[in-house]
Amino acid sequence: ESVIMNGELRNRDQCLISFEDRGYQFGDGVYEVIRVYGGRPFLMEEHLHRFKRSADELKIRLAWDEQELALMFNELVAVNEVMDGKIYVQLTRGAAKRDHLFPGQAEPVLIAYTDPASRPLDKMNKGIRVMTVDDIRWLRVDIKSLNLLPNVLVRQQAHDAGADDAIFVRNGIVTEGSSSNVFGVKDGICYTHPAGNLILNGITRQKLLQLAEAHGIACVEQAFTRDQLLEMDEVFISGTISEVTPVIAVDGQPIGNGKPGAITAKFQEALAEAVRSACPS
Ligand code: PMP
Repeated sequence: ESVIMNGELRNRDQCLISFEDRGYQFGDGVYEVIRVYGGRPFLMEEHLHRFKRSADELKIRLAWDEQELALMFNELVAVNEVMDGKIYVQLTRGAAKRDHLFPGQAEPVLIAYTDPASRPLDKMNKGIRVMTVDDIRWLRVDIKSLNLLPNVLVRQQAHDAGADDAIFVRNGIVTEGSSSNVFGVKDGICYTHPAGNLILNGITRQKLLQLAEAHGIACVEQAFTRDQLLEMDEVFISGTISEVTPVIAVDGQPIGNGKPGAITAKFQEALAEAVRSACPS
């Protein structure tokens, strides 16, 4: 099994990172997760574009352009013979004596590895139960940074409370899930929080907005409150790993009739179709 470190393929157990790496000490870095279906990365250009943007926002130099990265990751998928899996990509500011100030001459560290992944079919069919939590994150969650402590804590909190996942609420407004975006459907209209600094603009979310348009599903980027969330006819989350997963209960209260809804199913099918045409197996 191979990984990529700074542009070079090497053995997985020969990828050694310094304990002075700023990703380790400060969370000073960014990442992406790209899904692979049938041996082909899905929406890789979009992910790499967001990766570059995240790096730029943190002023971390990315020594390869998006095209070079795409070639590299395609090669990684091929040598590892990944069929259904994911590529994890991470860029940190590199290793330097511990000092908050950007180091003068640290070399940024890029790593990428693959892992198997399967579609969450059971959850996609049955739906999940979520709990709402206070969105205690910083105000730049549009940057896909390594600082996932709030996401980790609320995911564990939800798990300990017997829920499948957590949904963030900021000042009464639903922002996004712990590792997903959130959509609600009311009277045939689909709502999701607008892009901006308060959510990560999900690649899956953006794809679903395009698909809604193509399939004649009314969809608006308009925020809604936790109270409105509970009154939705349907709720679902979207993400690279979760795809389109129905939410059937929020804080112990059923959504709609407590079963995955018809518009959610339409989005699931539209996304599956997009995957089939982009990643024929
Ligand atoms: N929001 C957060 C906080 C996430 O971690 C993710 C997963 N990357 C998403 C949204 C969904 O983004 P995407 O569709 O690009 O996976």
